[in-house]
Amino acid sequence: MALPTFQNTPMESLAASCQTVRASFLSHKTRPLEFRLKQLRKLYWGLKDNADLIHEACSKDLSKPFFETYSGELNWCMNDCIFMQNNLTKWAADESAQDIPMANKLLGPKIRKDPMGAVLIIGAFNFPIQLSVGPLIGAIAAGCTAILKPSESAPYTAAVIQKIVSESLDPSCYIVAQGAIPETTALLDEKWDKIFYTGSANVGTIIAKKAAETLTPVTLELGGRNPAIITKHADPRLAARRLLWAKSYNAGQVCVSQNYVLIEEDMVESFLREIKTAYAEFYPNGIRKTPDFGRIVNLRQFQRLKKMLDETKGKIVLGGTMDEADLFIEPTFVLVSSPDDSLVKDESFGPFVPILPVKNLDEAIKIANEVHATPLGLYPFGNKAECEKILSQTRSGGASLNDGFFHASIPTMPFGGVGDSGTGAYRGKASFDVFTHRRSITKTPAWMEGLLSVRYPPFTDKKFKQ
Ligand code: NAD
Repeated sequence: MALPTFQNTPMESLAASCQTVRASFLSHKTRPLEFRLKQLRKLYWGLKDNADLIHEACSKDLSKPFFETYSGELNWCMNDCIFMQNNLTKWAADESAQDIPMANKLLGPKIRKDPMGAVLIIGAFNFPIQLSVGPLIGAIAAGCTAILKPSESAPYTAAVIQKIVSESLDPSCYIVAQGAIPETTALLDEKWDKIFYTGSANVGTIIAKKAAETLTPVTLELGGRNPAIITKHADPRLAARRLLWAKSYNAGQVCVSQNYVLIEEDMVESFLREIKTAYAEFYPNGIRKTPDFGRIVNLRQFQRLKKMLDETKGKIVLGGTMDEADLFIEPTFVLVSSPDDSLVKDESFGPFVPILPVKNLDEAIKIANEVHATPLGLYPFGNKAECEKILSQTRSGGASLNDGFFHASIPTMPFGGVGDSGTGAYRGKASFDVFTHRRSITKTPAWMEGLLSVRYPPFTDKKFKQ
C-alpha cells in the first residue's frame, strides 16, 4: 500500500465540516453506547490494517525506530481502543451521588455522564499518532463528535490518520482537517463544545484566549522544562542509563523528558563516567548508523536546536555532533554553571541534557522551583527520604522516582500538566472523563409536595419554627 499524500484541507470546506459534526451531535446518533463501541472497534481495525503505513509514515516524519512506533503509537492506540471498549459500559453508567444529606436521598440524586458535544482536537508532531488519535478515542467513548487537526509537521503520519479515520469511522461524526496556522485559526473561529490541544505553551495561550471569547472549555497539554535531580545517595549507573533512555527516545522530542539535570557536586564525576558507559552500551556500533535513534522532525527545529547549543556557555562532555542534511543531532550532555544558561531556562525539546552541579539538595529544590515552578514532569534520583522531600517541596504534572518519564509510559494513568504546563488530564478513564459532562440530576416525587411547602412564600414565622 502506498503512503497517502498530505494536503491542506481547503479553507472554504472547514466551516462546513464543523457544521457537519455539530449537526451529527445534535442528531443524538453518538449517544447510544452501541454506536460508540462500534466506532472504537472500527478504529482499532483501521489502525491494525494500516500498521505498515503507520510505521512507514513515522519513519519518514521522524525516523522513528520501529520499536518506538510500535510501542508508543500503534500498539498504544490499539490497546486504548480495547481498554475503552472493555470499560465503557461501566464508566458511562449513571452514578448515584455521594455524601447526600438523608432528606435529599428521597430525590434519587445521581450523576449522568453526558457527552460534551462537538469537539476540536489539535495534535502535536512528536507522537503524531498517539497525541491525535489518543484524545479522539476518548471523544468517541464519551459520545462526542470531533474534528481532529493533526500536526502538519508530521505530514506523512497526518495523511495516514486521515485515511484511517475517513475509511473506518462515521464520516458525519469524525473528520480530519489538515493544515497549519491558517487552517487551525479558521477552525478556532468556529464554536466548539470543547477544545483539546497538545503543543507548545505559546500556542496554548492563543488557543485559551480564543476559547475564552466563547467560554469554551479547554484541555491544554503543554510543554516541559522538567528537572531531574540527582542526590549524593543516588545510584549513578541507574540514573545515567535511565536519563539517557529518556533523552534518546524520539531523539529527545518528548514533552515530558528531563530538560535539565541538577546534581549534587559529589556525584558529578561518577554520573558522567556512567553516562559514557551507558552510551557505549546502548549504541555499541555508534549512534549514526543505528536504526534505534530517531531524527529531528524538520530543518526549522534542527536550526533552533543548533542555535541553542551554539549559545550555551556550558562545556560539552558527551556528544555534540550534528548533520543538517540528515537532521541528526547526537544526544549531547553539557556541563553548565548557571541556571540562567539558555539550555536550562528554555525547553530544548531535543536530545540535550544540561547538567548543573549544586551544593546540596536544598539548593537543587530551590533552583528547580525558580527555573519553572510547575513543570510537566519531575525526576528525583536518591533515597526514599530524599525523593519524598523533593516531591513535598515542588510541584509538577507528574513524577517518576528514580527514573526518566516512566510514569508517563503507563497508558491508563491520568496524564497532564499543572499551572502553565497544562490544564486537565487524559488517558485511560481520564480520556472518557475529559470529554464528559457530569450532569447532576434529581427527581422530586409528587408525594413530597406537602413536605416541600415550607420552601414556598409567604415565609411566615411558623415556617422558621418548623
Ligand atoms: P506547536 O505548538 O508548534 O503545534 C501544535 C499544534 O498547534 C499543531 O497542530 C499546529 O498546527 C498548531 N498551531 C501552531 N501554531 C498555531 C497558531 N499560531 N494558532 C493555532 N494553531 C497553531 O507544538 P509542536 O511543535 O507540535 O510540539 C512541541 C511542543 O509541544 C513542545 O513545547 C512540547 O513540550 C509540547 N508537547 C506537549 C505534550 C503534552 O502532552 N503535554 C505532548 C507533546 C508536545
